[in-house]
Amino acid sequence: MSTLEIRDLHVAITADDVQKEILRGVTLTINSGETHAIMGPNGSGKSTLAYSIAGHPKYTVTSGTITLDGEDVLAMSVDERARAGLFLAMQYPVEVPGVTVSNFLRTAKTAIDGEAPKLRTWVKDVKEAMGNLRMDPVFAERGVNEGFSGGEKKRHEILQLELLKPRFAVLDETDSGLDVDALRIVSEGVNRAQEASDMGVLLITHYTRILRYIKPDFVHVFVDGVIAEEGGPELADRLEDEGYDRFLPAAV
Ligand code: ADP
Ligand code: MG
Ligand code: MG
Repeated sequence: MSTLEIRDLHVAITADDVQKEILRGVTLTINSGETHAIMGPNGSGKSTLAYSIAGHPKYTVTSGTITLDGEDVLAMSVDERARAGLFLAMQYPVEVPGVTVSNFLRTAKTAIDGEAPKLRTWVKDVKEAMGNLRMDPVFAERGVNEGFSGGEKKRHEILQLELLKPRFAVLDETDSGLDVDALRIVSEGVNRAQEASDMGVLLITHYTRILRYIKPDFVHVFVDGVIAEEGGPELADRLEDEGYDRFLPAAV
């Protein structure tokens, strides 16, 4: 069993030469096999948490720790984080013209495992994973993120999950812009990947919709850079009914 532990995390961003504190002390422990939903209003710092775990240079950790089985994640490069078993959907947001999905996946798999996958099983695994996600085989020969639609980007992320088998996955707004069918297919992919490798999932979302397909064990509500409330799946049901109003300053 593995544990990803975030302790009293403070994160700042610098914009126009002014440093602004976004996360103001976030503490969260995720074990293998657990699904944690981070919910909260826009601008509450959800993506900042994801980028901080990913090691995005724009986000400065001013205090606190992130550890993976006791290892200091903050001391790791982005590549080292991936090799340690962290999957961060926003790690590969850019277009990589000339690099096909197929080559990209194989290179990533080789980098993470430290050896190239056996060709015959690999080809079979890719085919099967793409079939599960209802992806056209020609997709494998397209350039990474080149002209991908929103839905294709999400499927490509989940394809990576299924093939790279990370220990922990951070999924930031994987539900945004997906129609109901795509949402169900993508969610089933996350659930399959979790069952296959006992992956821990940090699922960031503004809406409760995706939580009908991916059942959270824990729900954490982000407000203004801190966790304002925590609970089980019933908290998501309550948010569905009530929204975030009670967490926000009362209008006068
Ligand atoms: P959420 O994902 O919950 O909507 P974010 O983490 O994206 O929230 O943003 C939290 C706050 O930090 C917002 O006020 C946002 O404007 C600010 N912020 C985040 N990233 C940047 C950035 N790169 N430059 C300037 N401001 C940022
Ligand atoms: Mg689960
Ligand atoms: Mg966000």
